[in-house]
This record gives sequence, C-alpha cells and structure tokens, in this order.
Amino acid sequence: MLRNPSLAEIAEITGGELLSEGAHGQCLAVSTDTRTIQKGSLYIPLKGDRFDGHNFAENAREAGALAMLTERELAVDLPQIKVKDTLLALADIAAWHRDQFNGRVVAVTGSAGKTTVKQLMGSVLNQRYKTLITQGNLNNHIGAPLTLLSLQPEHEAAMIELGASAVGEIAYTARLTRPEVGILTNVVPAHLEGFGSIDNIALTKGELIDAVTPSGTMVLNADDHYFTQWLSRATALNVISFGFSDRADVTAKDICESLTGSEFTLVLPDESVSVSLSLSGLHNVRNALAVAAAASSLGFSSVEIKAGLEQSAAVAGRLERCKGQRGQVIFNDAYNANPESFCAAIDVLKLAEGRRILVMGDMGELGDAATTMHVRVGNYAKDQSIECLVATGPLSKSAVEAFGDNGHWFENREAVTEFLTKTTKSGDTLLVKGSRSAGMDQVVRSLADKE
Ligand code: ATP
Ligand code: MG
Repeated sequence: MLRNPSLAEIAEITGGELLSEGAHGQCLAVSTDTRTIQKGSLYIPLKGDRFDGHNFAENAREAGALAMLTERELAVDLPQIKVKDTLLALADIAAWHRDQFNGRVVAVTGSAGKTTVKQLMGSVLNQRYKTLITQGNLNNHIGAPLTLLSLQPEHEAAMIELGASAVGEIAYTARLTRPEVGILTNVVPAHLEGFGSIDNIALTKGELIDAVTPSGTMVLNADDHYFTQWLSRATALNVISFGFSDRADVTAKDICESLTGSEFTLVLPDESVSVSLSLSGLHNVRNALAVAAAASSLGFSSVEIKAGLEQSAAVAGRLERCKGQRGQVIFNDAYNANPESFCAAIDVLKLAEGRRILVMGDMGELGDAATTMHVRVGNYAKDQSIECLVATGPLSKSAVEAFGDNGHWFENREAVTEFLTKTTKSGDTLLVKGSRSAGMDQVVRSLADKE
C-alpha cells in the first residue's frame, strides 16, 4: 500500500464500526482470499453465488490477518470492523488508496482489445515510469479495486483495465480509478445478454468519460459508430481520436501486414514514425493507435512510443503463434471471441500461405442474435477463401452449414483434435478461436508441439 491505514481510519473510510475495543495496528495490505493473504493484512470477505468469505474468518486469523471487515459480528479472535456491504467497503478503501497516488493513471475500456491495449500502453509507460498494470484480466468490480490497492510507493504510473457485462459497471470502477487519460477502444456486440442492446454497451463504455479527472484526456475511436455520441459526452475534456478515417488525430499509413505482425507509419499530430509491431492483425494496429494517442497526450515522444510498441509481444491466447506437433502453424486466439474479433482473426489467417484452417468453438452471450452471428462468421470465412472450417458446439453448426463444402462439425473438442491430428500437416496454418466457455485452448494444447 502507499500508506498503511490504521484500523480506526479503515472504519472511517468505510463508514464502519470497529467492534473490537482497543484494537489497533496498521494494515499492510488488503486481501479477499485467505489462501494468499499476507501477515498484517486486512481481510475483506466477499460473498459469491457459491461461497461466503465470512466462513473463512478463522483461516484469515490463522494466516496472520491484522483484522477483518464483516457484515455481521463473528465469533473469531480477530478485530472486526462491521460494514453494511463488504464489496462496497472494498471500493471505498480502493478509492481512498488511489487518492494518495500522485502518479499517472490511465484506464482502458471497450468491447475488445482492452487487455492488448493495457499491455501495449504498459510497455510505453514503462519507457519513463515504473508502471503497475492490471494483472491478467482482473478488470471487474472486484479486480479493479484490488488492482488499485496493489499500488506501491515505488509506482509512478498505473495502467488499469476496466471491463463490464452490465450497465453501470464501468461507472462503478472508473469512479474509483479516476484516470487522467481514458481510452475507449470500441463497441462490438459482446456480452449482449447482460446489456440488452449494443446502444446500452456504448452508453456503459461511455461511463469512463465521466470519470476522467478534470483537464484530463479522453482517447476515442474515430472509426466507431458511437464516436460522435462519446465526443459530445466528453466536451469537458481534451479529446484525441485514433483510427483509419480522415477525422482521426492519430492514424496509420503504409500498413504492411504479415502473419507475424504489421509494419506501418504512425502518424501523430505533429510527427510521424515507422513502427514494426509484432502483433498480427489490423485490429492490433488499431490498438497500437489508441495507445499512441494516449501516450502522445501524456507528452511521450515518438521515439518512446515506437520503442514501447515494438517491445510488446502478443498476449497469451490472443493470436499467439505456436508450432503444432506435425509442423503446422497454430494461431491460438482461443482466449475469447465475438463476431467482430472472429472476422479480424480470419483476416489474419487469410494472410497465410498454404492451407488455411479455421477451428471454431461457439461464441457465447449473444442472446437472440447468436445463430445469425455464427452464420455470419461461417459466411465470412467462405468469402475470405479459407480452405477448411472445423467446428464444435451447438451454435457453430450453423457456421459450418453456411460455410458449405469442407466444413466439418464435431460433437466435442476431442473429436476436433483427432480430426485435425489426422488431416493437417506442415505447411498448414490453423486459427483456433471461440469464447472462453468453449474451451478451445484445450484443442491448442493437444495439437501443440510440447518442446
Ligand atoms: P475481455 O473482455 O475478455 O477482457 P479484452 O477487451 O481485454 O477482452 P483482448 O483480450 O485484448 O480484449 O482481446 C480479446 C479478443 O479480441 C482477441 O481475440 C483479439 O483477437 C480481439 N481483438 C483485440 N483487439 C481488437 C479490436 N481492436 N477490434 C476487434 N477485435 C479485437
Ligand atoms: Mg481483457
């Protein structure tokens, strides 16, 4: 932590009541998990669908916790601070902690590309500052406050990923984060079931705009359908836009795409620089432009931006390249999928020489549009002249039907793996993709060369 609050301070910050009279001490850290808790920490028990952290109070005591928050008085020999809602209390402490931090804070949200942007921007920020970046995908109402709470005195900047699956969730986490620069990557039909409509997704992602600090900067996608809506929401801020259209402040020209990455001229408001990005796909050029726009608003030079972008490698499971046991090239994009990112990945597969095989799992959370969206991906793969589609999952059946000849559907991932092991070889390029729930990374693991 940046400053270790006392128990009395914690009670004040959370509006709670210190039940254990005379208890004192300073919280060295905050933890919501008794399995990883460090000595001297404040334990915050959270309630999930299947568990209630209050039941692990004794474990927290054994692990050396200093005290715990609680929603009800417990019979445990550990100082307790009673609060109405432990989740809201976690947010209060995170907001307090962030307020102590004087370094630069950048936040990213959007439907797709958040983790990639976070990684790229972290790399650029690190050119100048010791930067905290969100670990993995800890971007929700629990992960974001915990990330903020991991800010340490040595940090000079923070790059925070904010995700949402329902209206209001970005407002909640962005309010705690109070970024100096907000990046909104895009809006695509992802997590439609939680949001109800794509308009609601655009509104929710736009909540980031309201949380940017006064005189801060909002980075907006000039190519996005909702650009003007966000622009009018950001009138109190500086705005810098990125994209391929003429109205973008930061853009790319002379793009040369290959399977292993993209080379392009990065056009900043005042200068241009050549960039060689080792992430493939035009969508990753867009992500790099968003980062360049944010970095340029923070005063980074084109040399620093270029160095930061070029030092970044693909994030695991996002168009990550590996070799198959039979010499095939495998692109592991199995981390997640939505219709837009599926098409973006197919655009990369299209660049391969030799036989190109799309290995597809279902895209989840698409609501009523699910079948139409799967048909769209099947058609897109056919239109891009992909040679073969191999799929599993009930929804992907419609993609195989739309694809037609050389489309193969299987009951499960094991059958997909068996078919691919038998029928693919050196010279073939496979793109494996599906929603996380489809678990297509298992197919990658079975096919990949273990060496
Ligand atoms: P999540 O919501 O799961 O946190 P995310 O927004 O962090 O996702 P990434 O993990 O960076 O996104 O990428 C997820 C998928 O989206 C990848 O499969 C990638 O190929 C695709 N993708 C990344 N950036 C873009 C973009 N700008 N436009 C469209 N698709 C993208
Ligand atoms: Mg992410």
